[in-house]
Amino acid sequence: MNDQQLLRYSRQIMLADIDIEGQEKLLTASVLIIGLGGLGSPVAMYLAAAGVGHLILADFDTVDLSNLQRQIAHTTDRIGQTKVESAAQTLQALNPDIKITSITQPLDADTLAIQIAGVDVVVDCCDNFTTRFAVNAACVNAKIPLVSGAAIRLEGQLAVFDNRDSNCACYRCLYDDDSTEDTTCAANGVLSPLVGVIGSLQALETIKFVVGFGQTIAGKLLVFDARYTQWRELKLMKDKQCPVCNKK
Ligand SMILES: [Zn+2]
Repeated sequence: MNDQQLLRYSRQIMLADIDIEGQEKLLTASVLIIGLGGLGSPVAMYLAAAGVGHLILADFDTVDLSNLQRQIAHTTDRIGQTKVESAAQTLQALNPDIKITSITQPLDADTLAIQIAGVDVVVDCCDNFTTRFAVNAACVNAKIPLVSGAAIRLEGQLAVFDNRDSNCACYRCLYDDDSTEDTTCAANGVLSPLVGVIGSLQALETIKFVVGFGQTIAGKLLVFDARYTQWRELKLMKDKQCPVCNKK
């Protein structure tokens, strides 16, 4: 680390749980973020600011006026740009130190398998079950930790799947193929800071995986009720019939 980096990350390096060693792990880490919307914005911004060395951004959507109420990585003058291009500008302005890779094509199983190779953590910030299931299957196959978030209306969810541990439940253990309810904010609405609450926690869990301090919430599902600022914690059970994580 050079003097500029020591200064930039000094408030983190001061923490006994991070220290120089932890900061170096962050600087050499590679994290794939699926979706650069309401959740992906704070995830990407906090991970960039914290010094995660390589962020891979995947989204094929463009910035729309109706996104700006909550998708804080984007700005009014970038309406019409791709979300990854807009987010990359925000992140490089925050921290020119980090490398950013952009993916703008839709992610099918083959593309995912390629993009996921060599990544330390995958952060799912997308808004549809098709992508969530594909991302989960790719993470289970490659044994890569998955940090999953969701936010809709006034409710948020956070779950972490440590796919390195074959006893850990996967996302598919939690939801089956019948889970086709429309979960988009376009159809249901969402309160602006709710995505910040869930996205910030996704960034926190990701940093814990990379640095290896404390304990992630792997094996649990946290449900947040923004109306009363209340959390519920549910234990995730591995589904013995799960077609994704049970075949090995
Ligand atoms: Zn499973």
